[in-house]
Amino acid sequence: MASTVFERHRPAASVVVESLRGSRLSSFWLDDISPRRYPRLTSDLNCDLAVVGGGYCGLWTAVLAKRRDPDARVVLLEARTVGWAASGRNGGFCEASLTHGEENGRRRWPAEYDRLEELGDENLDAIERAVTELGLDCEFERTGSIDLAVEEHQAEWLREEPTNTGTNENTVYLDEAALRAEVNSPTYLAGVWHQRSNALVHPGKLAAELARVAAELGVEIFEHTPVRSLDTDGLTPTQGTRVRTSRGTVQAAKTALATNVFPSLLKRNRLATVPVYDYVLMTEPLTDAQLASIGWQHRQGLGDLANQFHYYRLSGDNRILFGGYDAVYHYGRRVRSGYEDRPTSHERLASHFFTTFPQLEGVRFSHRWAGAIDTSTQFCAFFGTARGGRISYAAGFTGLGVGATHFAANVMLDQLADLGTELTSLEMVRKHPLPFPPEPIASIGIQATRWSLDRADHNRGRRNLVLRTLDALGLGFDS
Ligand SMILES: Cc1cc2nc3c(=O)[nH]c(=O)nc-3n(C[C@H](O)[C@H](O)[C@H](O)COP(=O)(O)OP(=O)(O)OC[C@H]3O[C@@H](n4cnc5c(N)ncnc54)[C@H](O)[C@@H]3O)c2cc1C
Repeated sequence: MASTVFERHRPAASVVVESLRGSRLSSFWLDDISPRRYPRLTSDLNCDLAVVGGGYCGLWTAVLAKRRDPDARVVLLEARTVGWAASGRNGGFCEASLTHGEENGRRRWPAEYDRLEELGDENLDAIERAVTELGLDCEFERTGSIDLAVEEHQAEWLREEPTNTGTNENTVYLDEAALRAEVNSPTYLAGVWHQRSNALVHPGKLAAELARVAAELGVEIFEHTPVRSLDTDGLTPTQGTRVRTSRGTVQAAKTALATNVFPSLLKRNRLATVPVYDYVLMTEPLTDAQLASIGWQHRQGLGDLANQFHYYRLSGDNRILFGGYDAVYHYGRRVRSGYEDRPTSHERLASHFFTTFPQLEGVRFSHRWAGAIDTSTQFCAFFGTARGGRISYAAGFTGLGVGATHFAANVMLDQLADLGTELTSLEMVRKHPLPFPPEPIASIGIQATRWSLDRADHNRGRRNLVLRTLDALGLGFDS
C-alpha cells in the first residue's frame, strides 16, 4: 500500500503539539461576532408560515418568503440560537454545485444534469445579488476554488479531463509551476481553478446577517424554542398545522422544516440522514511575511482530490482555516457536543497543515472545532412535502449546504405555494433517496466504507469491491 504525501513528509511531533497549545475549542466564526439575540416563544400564535430551524436553510426560507409576500406573517422557531450548528461552523465555501459535484450529479440525474448545473450557477449569482441588495455584511468574496492534485494519480485525473487541458471561460488548468505561483506548497502537482463556481463567506456573519434582515423584514424569530411535534388533527387544509413547543403552539397555514441533520419531526425522514463529524482548525492571523511566503494573492478556496480531502481558505483577517480529512460517524447517529473535541483528528489536521505549508512552522492555531455533516445517501439535499402539502422539508446537504440552502428555500416555498415550477418538477427534487439502514448495520456499513475510502487513497484512488458495490447501488457515504 503506497503512503500519502502527508505520511511521507510529516512535521516533527513537537511542531504539531506546540501549534495547538492554547487553542480554543470553539468555532472561530461564532467567536468572531456579537449577534443580536431573539426572545423565546411564550404564547400561542397563528401565522401564514412557520419555519422550523434557524440555520441558513430556515433563514433563507423566512427571508425569501417575506420578499415574495411582505404581508405574510412569518415565524421562525429555533431550538437553540440562530446559526449555532453547521451554519456557524462550516468552511464558508459557497459552491454553485447543487449535486455535490458533477460526477455525482451526472450519475444520478443524467437527463437533467446540464440544467442542474445552470441552476446552480444561477443560484450562486442570486446569492451574490442578495448580498448586495440586502446589505449582508458577510465577507462575500467570489474567488473561485482550486481542485488540487497532491498525488501523481490525482494529477493524471486532472490532465485526462478534456476541459482541463487549456483555459476555457471560467476554468484554468494549472501545471505544477503555475499552481505554485498561485499558492506555494511543495505538495502541489497540478490544479484546476474554477474561477466562478465558488464564493467564500464568513459563515457566522452570514447567519447573523440573514437573521437581522429577516427580523427587519418582519419575521418573528424565537430562539431557545425547540419544536416537539406537528399535528393536523381536526384542522382543515387551509388551517394548516399545529407546530407544538413546550412554551406555546404556533398554528401555521404552511410549515417549512429546515432541521437538517437533527432528528426529523416527520417519522418518514428519521433514517434519511446521519451526522458525520468533520474537524476544523483556524490559525492566528498571518503576518505579511508569512502570507507572502505562500502567495495566495487571489485568495481562492482550496481542496485536494483525495476521498479523505482537506479544504482550506483565508479569512478576512488572513487566518487560514484548514479542515476535513477525518469524517467520523458515532454509533447511534446522535449530534452531541461531546464528539467535538477529538485530539487525534485535530493533531492529524495540524500535521497535514505543516506538510502543506512547511514555511509556516511556528504558526499557532487559535481555534479548533467540529461540526456534524448532514449526510444523505445521495450526497446532496432531498426535498418533499407532507400532510397534503401543508408541510415541506429540505435536508441532507452533505457538507455542501452554504449555497444549496438558498436553492432549497426556493424549492420549499414553491412547493408550499403549490406552484408547479421548474424547481418542483425536477427529478432531483421529486425523488427521495434511500434511507440509511438502522443500527447496528448503519455503523458497520459506514465504518467499512470509510476504511475502503482510506485504502483507495493509498492505492492510486482505486475503488475496492465495497465501494464499487455501493456505487452500483447508488448508495454511499461522504462528507
Ligand atoms: C465542519 C463543517 C464544514 C462545512 N463546510 C462547508 C462548506 O465549506 N461549504 C458548504 O457548502 N457546506 C459546508 N458544510 C455544510 C453546511 O454547513 C450545511 O450544509 C448548512 O449549514 C446546512 O444549513 P441548515 O440550515 O440546513 O442546517 P443547520 O445549520 O444545521 O441548522 C439547522 C437548525 O435547525 C435547528 N433545529 C433542529 N431541530 C429543531 C427543532 N425540532 N425545533 C427547532 N429548531 C430545530 C437546529 O438547532 C439548527 O440550528 C460544513 C459543515 C460542517 C459541519
